[in-house]
This record gives sequence, C-alpha cells and structure tokens, in this order.
Amino acid sequence: MRQRLSVETYTKGVLAGDRSTLSRAITVMESSLPEDRKLAGAILQNILPYTGNSVRIGITGVPGVGKSTFIEAFGSYLTSLGKRVAVLAVDPSSKQSGGSILGDKTRMEKLARDPDAYIRPSATNLSLGGVARHTREAILLCEAARYDIVLVETVGVGQSETLVKGMTDFFLLLMLSGAGDELQGIKKGIMEMVDAVAVNKADNGNEPAVTNAVAEYRQALHLFPETASKVPVQVVACSALENTGMELIWNLISDYFAQTTKSGFLEQNRQFQRIEWLREQIRQSLEDRFYENEWVQKHIASADEAVRNGEKLPEDAAGELIEMFLRSGNAFNG
Ligand code: GDP
Repeated sequence: MRQRLSVETYTKGVLAGDRSTLSRAITVMESSLPEDRKLAGAILQNILPYTGNSVRIGITGVPGVGKSTFIEAFGSYLTSLGKRVAVLAVDPSSKQSGGSILGDKTRMEKLARDPDAYIRPSATNLSLGGVARHTREAILLCEAARYDIVLVETVGVGQSETLVKGMTDFFLLLMLSGAGDELQGIKKGIMEMVDAVAVNKADNGNEPAVTNAVAEYRQALHLFPETASKVPVQVVACSALENTGMELIWNLISDYFAQTTKSGFLEQNRQFQRIEWLREQIRQSLEDRFYENEWVQKHIASADEAVRNGEKLPEDAAGELIEMFLRSGNAFNG
C-alpha cells in the first residue's frame, strides 16, 4: 500500500529537486483515485509558479531506430554542458499488449546513474487520455524540480505522436537510412509534425547511406508546406552509438528555441497547448461523470442493444441518454 505524503512535503521535495519525492509525486499524478486527484491538484497548484522554464523536446521513431541509445547519448551530452535532464516516456503499447515497446528495464543505464538526469519509465495500464494527462503533469513537476530539458520519448503507436507533439516545444523524428518510408512504418502525417529529422546509425561504414538518406529527406521536405513555427525543418545525421551529431542537434534545437521565443511562436504554441489540455479535460470529465451516473448505468445496456440491432441510430440513442443524464441533475451536483 502506497503511503501518501502531505501536500507540503511533496511540494517542498519537488522544488528542492529531490528525485525520490519527484517520483512519488508523479505516481500521484498517474492515479485516478479521487483522493489522489485532489492531492495532485493541490501539488500542481503549489508548483505552478515554478513551471514553464524547460525546453520540452518530443522524440519519436520506430522500434529499433535507436531512441533509447540516442537519449542516453544526447542526455549525457546535455548533462556534460551542465544541464539537468528529465526523460519521460509515453508508451501506449504497454496497455494494449501487456508489454512495453519502449521496454524500460535495462535502458539508459549510464544516464540513469547521472546525478543530473532523471528517468521516469512509462506508466502501465493507463488509457491514452490518462497517459496524456499525467505526462503533461509530470512535465510541470520536472520543471518545478529545475530540470532544464525534458525529453518525452514515444513510439509511434496509435495517437501517441500527436499527443506528445501537443505537449512539447520541439519534435524530433529519428529515422534510418536504406529503408523506404513504408518500411520504417512512417505514418502519414508524421512528417508534417516534425521540427527536425535525425538519421541515426551513421557509423560502421553506413555513413554514405546516411548521407544519401539525409539528402533524400531534405528533398522530400521541400514538398511540404511551411511549418507553423516558420522555422525550416532540419535534417541531420547522427550516431547514437558513437556519440556523433549530438552537438549539432542541440545547436539546432537551441536555435529553434531562440527564434521561436523571439517571434512569439513558442509562447503562442504553449498557450494553444494549454487550451487543448483544457478542452481534453472537459471532454474527459464529462465522459467520466456520464458513465458514473446511476441513471446512465441503468439504461445504457438497453441503448446498446437497440443500436446493436439496428433499431436505433447511435446519434439518437446518445441524444436520449445525454438528455436524461443532464435532467437527472447529477451532472451539476454529482
Ligand atoms: P529503440 O527501440 O528505438 O529504443 O532502439 P534502441 O536504442 O533500443 O536501439 C536498437 C538497436 O540499435 C540496439 O541494438 C542499439 O545498440 C542499436 N543502435 C542504436 N543506435 C545506434 C547507432 O547510432 N549506431 C548503430 N550502429 N547501432 C545503433
């Protein structure tokens, strides 16, 4: 049984940058128990003034592209510059398959021992909505704990890329050379989301192929419309294994950050993301209350049945249930 601490203890520990309290606070965020949600709200309220000061970077790519190796190399490079780095993971596969594609056990061993790094494995058994909410909250907690850079890793399953894009400032796609886009499982739309592409594994004689791939991706990107940030998408080569390209990648992210801070896009984008978060929260809360409603619980089976048999249209059945839900009054006081 997990023991809860007081709001003050969580707040103080997080603000002091204490990793174990940070972990415990993130565990509170991951919980959907009403007591924990209340506690989470109080902690977040306290730390809110200390948030927003990190560079939030999303990192994606198919399994095997080298995400964890890259984060180990890139994270270590950043800590060598004196930065504090937090790593979060969004891995919806862990719920669907009972196993994790990101596979947390032996990853990033060096970075995990680095006193300036904090690695949080992905939570299991949460819906995508749940993952989205607590990852956003975890980012805020890491910022309050004075991490300068938050890396949010995701594997391109379901909506996870869109989700991570919606909570970060910069989105980096890792790719490989010598495989067509389809082979790499690149989903339609991903190219429109990225701020940079790093072609990994430029080592062991693979360099010419990577150079070719970089040129091809650059060419392909010309066909895409200008990004919302107005900063051109960069394509670079790197080797996570041999630690090359890390400085280049950090420089281009720093440039992006400087340019979008100056243009106002960075803040505008974060404001937009906060509103999206609010909208999602409204959707989620309404849905939760709807399904918890006694009246709905009593009548949903017959509505399901009528829709299943084709006697009623889903829209009509939903309309009736929602009407009754609102009339039952619990929507306002429940
Ligand atoms: P992930 O599934 O995207 O997290 O990929 P991993 O980081 O687990 O890497 C998958 C495999 O690729 C491992 O065997 C790594 O050692 C290897 N790998 C990762 N980065 C590089 C690299 O830059 N060069 C080479 N040659 N191998 C790499």
